[in-house]
Amino acid sequence: MQTDLVAALDIGGTKIAGALVDGHGRILVRAQRATPAREDGDTVMRAVEEVLGELTASPLWGRAHAVGIGSAGPVDASEGTVSPVNVPGWRDFPLVGRVRAATGGLPVELIGDGVAITAAEHWQGAARGHDNALCMVVSTGVGGGLVLNGRLHPGPTGNAGHIGHISVDLDGDPCPCGARGCVERIASGPNIARRALENGWRPGPDGDTSAAAVAAAARVGDPVAVASFERAAQALAAGIAATATLVEIDVAVIGGGVGKAGDILFAPLRKALSDYATLSFVQRLTVTPALMGTDAGLVGAAAAALALPTGAEPAGV
Ligand SMILES: [Zn+2]
Repeated sequence: MQTDLVAALDIGGTKIAGALVDGHGRILVRAQRATPAREDGDTVMRAVEEVLGELTASPLWGRAHAVGIGSAGPVDASEGTVSPVNVPGWRDFPLVGRVRAATGGLPVELIGDGVAITAAEHWQGAARGHDNALCMVVSTGVGGGLVLNGRLHPGPTGNAGHIGHISVDLDGDPCPCGARGCVERIASGPNIARRALENGWRPGPDGDTSAAAVAAAARVGDPVAVASFERAAQALAAGIAATATLVEIDVAVIGGGVGKAGDILFAPLRKALSDYATLSFVQRLTVTPALMGTDAGLVGAAAAALALPTGAEPAGV
């Protein structure tokens, strides 16, 4: 039997997506459920099992040799558990074991969602061809992942590259993570909108107070909206420059809803990077928008599973 496919799961606070994916990253079969995020852990797991049930019912299932999971974090790949902030019913939930049981004992690879998106961008997107890259998602939160020496670097627990919780403002506002002045506390979509509102920006007649609405206002020159994006760009630049200085990345890829703001974000970001990324070995660093669309999480989870040796037990799980 040919075993050229993998199953992929992308688990977030709003949806649980699954797919069978081939070695070129093509999605051949899809399944999806809404995440019952406010329910107990077993109810959330049942939604995962329904997604897997649709995949295992496919005539192509027999060709799958492994399962890759990209999950909202924190995850602990060394223990095979997940504790997504926005799924309170899952704390140290043994997701790897449960997925393995639901798939007849296939090897399972677990990574955080930021790491999964990084795997996708490195395989097929904006980080392709780069041996040292930081990929970020800037939306409701700020996540990320690293490619070092040409390989995905998930770290021991699958969370490496979580740039959203690097502090860039020592005495800054408290962050829900417990620290202060984190990149996420300044640059996430809700924080861009909050800061604009606090400084006098008012939404249009539709009452839309999202970061996208602030971006639209910035595009037509609203100074408060522009300033809120400039502050977010400054925080992102400081975090990216710190990362580049530590591990010598040559590209930072930015996706997510805030990344879609285009030049409203990228112009001040490039300018701020020139203020913070000053040493000779980081001056060539570039920032670029992500290229992978909404399937990035699935494609990245598939990439992690495809990296497992066919028919072998994965290391550390
Ligand atoms: Zn934080």
